[in-house]
Amino acid sequence: MKLIFLGAPGAGKGTQAALVGKKLGIPTISTGEILRAAVKAETPVGLKAKSFMDTGKLVPDDVILDIVMERLAQPDCRSGYILDGVPRTIAQAEYLDQEGIRFDAAISLEISDEEITARMTGRRSCPQCGAVFHLISDPPKTECTCDKCGEMLVQRTDDSAEIVQRRLEVYHAETEPLKAFYKARGVLKPVENLEGIAETNARVMKVLELECV
Ligand code: AMP
Repeated sequence: MKLIFLGAPGAGKGTQAALVGKKLGIPTISTGEILRAAVKAETPVGLKAKSFMDTGKLVPDDVILDIVMERLAQPDCRSGYILDGVPRTIAQAEYLDQEGIRFDAAISLEISDEEITARMTGRRSCPQCGAVFHLISDPPKTECTCDKCGEMLVQRTDDSAEIVQRRLEVYHAETEPLKAFYKARGVLKPVENLEGIAETNARVMKVLELECV
């Protein structure tokens, strides 16, 4: 099965993609995570991507597509995968389409800008293992430290109020048009993301089970 999670920054794509990936036994590929690791390791890709990420802009399509195609060629992607945060522009979606990649579903997590802004300020992530928590909806067991590896949690630099605003603008201008792109291909599945993680996951699974029948 090949799935895409679409949605604004902070809509819960990473969380839902990880849950569905675990249930289906397929990997989740997050370009944001790959890029953050590259920035941390100061690789050529990381050095190129950093200024775009820090200012809430999109990293150029050619950089993203190289990363994605390299990752999709790995053996664990043979029986399917979930894309989280990619494609993010029509050019990226068209490229994947031209490569012959067809998706079973593009799940669009629907949430208002106001809710996003409120949520993003509470998001904390682990710089060591990449685990993500939320101070209100998914708090870590010990305040400020990662449940998985014990590292101090941090707020992503691009989760500040000003940068979140910029990322939302970019989302509406560049990424939201993908909904029409995948609707035209008959695979768009909008899912309201208003309540907790488990409720949203139940909706996502329902949509996928209907799809699987
Ligand atoms: P995310 O963790 O998905 O919110 O991504 C964090 C940042 O990485 C974004 O704000 C972009 O700067 C960059 N990024 C991640 N995925 C993409 C993509 N598919 N296209 C362009 N930029 C991306």
